[in-house]
Order: sequence, then structure tokens, then C-alpha cells
Amino acid sequence: MNDYFSFDLTKKDGEARLARFCTPHGVIHLPNFAPVGTQATVKTLTPDDLHALGTEIILANTYHLYLRPGTQLLANFGGLHHFMSWDGPILTDSGGFQVFSLAHRRDIDDDGVTFRSHIDGSKHRFTPETVIAAEEAIGADIIMALDECPPPTDRAYVEQSLARTHAWAARCQAAQTRPDQALFGIVQGGIFPNLRRQSAEFLAGLDLPGYAIGGLSVGETKEQMYATLDSLMPSMPTDRPRYLMGVGTPEDILEAVSRGIDLFDCVLPTRMARNGGLFTHNGRLNIRNAQYREDRRPIEEGCTCYTCQHFSRAYLRHLLQAKEILGLRLATLHNLHFMLRLMENIREAIAAGRFIEFKDDFLAAYRISDQQKRHENRAAYQARRTP
Ligand SMILES: [Zn+2]
Repeated sequence: MNDYFSFDLTKKDGEARLARFCTPHGVIHLPNFAPVGTQATVKTLTPDDLHALGTEIILANTYHLYLRPGTQLLANFGGLHHFMSWDGPILTDSGGFQVFSLAHRRDIDDDGVTFRSHIDGSKHRFTPETVIAAEEAIGADIIMALDECPPPTDRAYVEQSLARTHAWAARCQAAQTRPDQALFGIVQGGIFPNLRRQSAEFLAGLDLPGYAIGGLSVGETKEQMYATLDSLMPSMPTDRPRYLMGVGTPEDILEAVSRGIDLFDCVLPTRMARNGGLFTHNGRLNIRNAQYREDRRPIEEGCTCYTCQHFSRAYLRHLLQAKEILGLRLATLHNLHFMLRLMENIREAIAAGRFIEFKDDFLAAYRISDQQKRHENRAAYQARRTP
């Protein structure tokens, strides 16, 4: 770490960690969740809305911002914080995940990856050095190293790509010129315990300010994901933040926090909201269903979000059925409020030394069908892919 960043682990409850990560744009209380703002906006919300929800960090996508509006333009505006008028911490991914999901429009080699834009078909090349340059122009507080995210159960491919991911992490570190951005390395290794361990140990040797776990929530089963975390976590450095990329259902977050993960991001809460999928403590409801047509109750009794304080399920259903923009906004406000309150409750439970009790109580009430789980898994993975 340097003068711009510090990590303070304040309490452990089992493996769950209560911590603070200080960045140039503010403190992130961990465990925490980063709403996704792919195109320099968390869809339908203003920065004031995000602050009112208690958002402490948002995620933006390098691939999308590089293509549009372009990283040079963002640099001309003094970086993404100024451009979008968000003064809190920002995290950018490396763009690798989106590029690699461009199945037939990309060509990968040991030096980098050449790809065609999903917008206009134009040809571009990402290397560790060009990705760091793009992330420095965007100017996020936390920036991710370029990595390759292979199919998690293909052992030969995973093993071969791991050497590439490690070499790229070292090149990203060497290419970095700004001390006010924390470069996180990404542990890969699919579902294979010894490859995961090898990856964690290699990256720890680079002494980076934080570490992410990539290549999960990409099509493997939940059992495989939890087992991978179980075997990997003892090899992860304890004195740095640990970020599980692309994970974000309430039950996955609770399971991962109980294994020592500190930070999450996921498009699911916001994307699902726009499709009428709303979180409650008893599971998920789809407000588009006919049963809510004349329902005068809020989405959830007792919810303190703006939407639940003012509007009925029937009104929200009407707005979404009529494709009114306000409907997308009200649904998004509720789901992010739910996720950020969940993270706050998790932190309070760890502080009080009763995290496992909190987790068990939450999961006992939060009932979603296996079909909904499979749908969530698929939706979370698909939504991270390009475009
Ligand atoms: Zn609400």
C-alpha cells in the first residue's frame, strides 16, 4: 500500500471480515456491494440517488468506455469522476471479460487480444499496457489487471491460460504510472484447487494492494463455486481486500462473506429490476404478474426505500407494463436499497459477532425456487458478456 490507500481489518467473526478500504475518493466499508454503471451510469439513477441509497463504490466497464465515448475524451474531461459527476470511489474492470466473450470476433495470443467492436465492427487491440493506459485515462480508484477468463471446468485450457494471466498481471503492474489507483490482481484457475492456490501465491508475490477472484459465476454450479472458494481462501493474503467478481445474489453474497470475501459487484439487482424482478426478504417477486394488478401494498412491508414509501405494487406494475421510464427507476431504487441494506446488516452482524446467526436467519426466510436460482445464475453470467 502507499499514502493513497489503506486497508484496516477491524473485526473477524469466523472467516467473515469487517474492514475499511480507504481510497482517494472515500472509504469503502467492507463487506460491500458495487452497483454496476457499465456506460458511466447506473441505469436510471443520478449520483444523488446513489448517495441517498448509501452507495460507497460503483463499477464501470473499461471495454464499453474505451469504445464509447473513448478514453481520450474521458481524460480530456479530467476522468470519469468528473465526466459523470460521481465523487465516490469507482472500480474499473480491465475489459478482458467482455472481449473474451466476443466469441467469434476476437483473437488471443500471449501478448494480448485483438477484437472487433460489437458496435461498429472496428478492429482494436488490448494488451496489458494499453489496458492500464485506458484505466489510467478513466481514472478509477481501483483498477483491474488484464486476465483471461477460461471455461472453468476445462482443465487443459485453464492451466495454459493461467501462465498468461500471471504474466499479464506482472506487465500491468510494470505499466502502471499513477500511484493514486490501486491495481488488483485477479486469481484464476477454474474449479481446480491446486491451480487456484498456485494463482493466489503467484499474485501475492507481486504485493498488490488488493486481490480479486475471477472466473466464477460463469456457468459452473453453485456447489462448484462454494467448493472452489473453500479450497482457495486459505491461500489468499489476509491483509488486503478480497473481491469476488460478478457475484451478487443475496445467498451467494452471504456464502462468500462467510468464507472471507469483502467486495462484490453484479448487474443482477439493477437488470432484474428493469424486468420486474424485485427482492423481498421472503424471496423474489415478479411485479409483472397479474396477481399484483390491484395490490395496494408496497413491494415489501417495512421497506424504507423511496419506492415502498410512496407507491403500491399495482402502480409499479402498471408503469412497467406501460413501459414507463419511471417504472424502471422505481424498481431499481428498491433493489439497490435491498442489496445495500443487506450489506449494512452483514457489517452490523459481524461487528456484533453474530454473522452466522444472521446468515442462517436470512436464508431461512429467503426462499427462491431452484428454477429461479438457475435463472439468476444464467442471467448474471449473460449480462456480464458483450454487449
Ligand atoms: Zn422498497
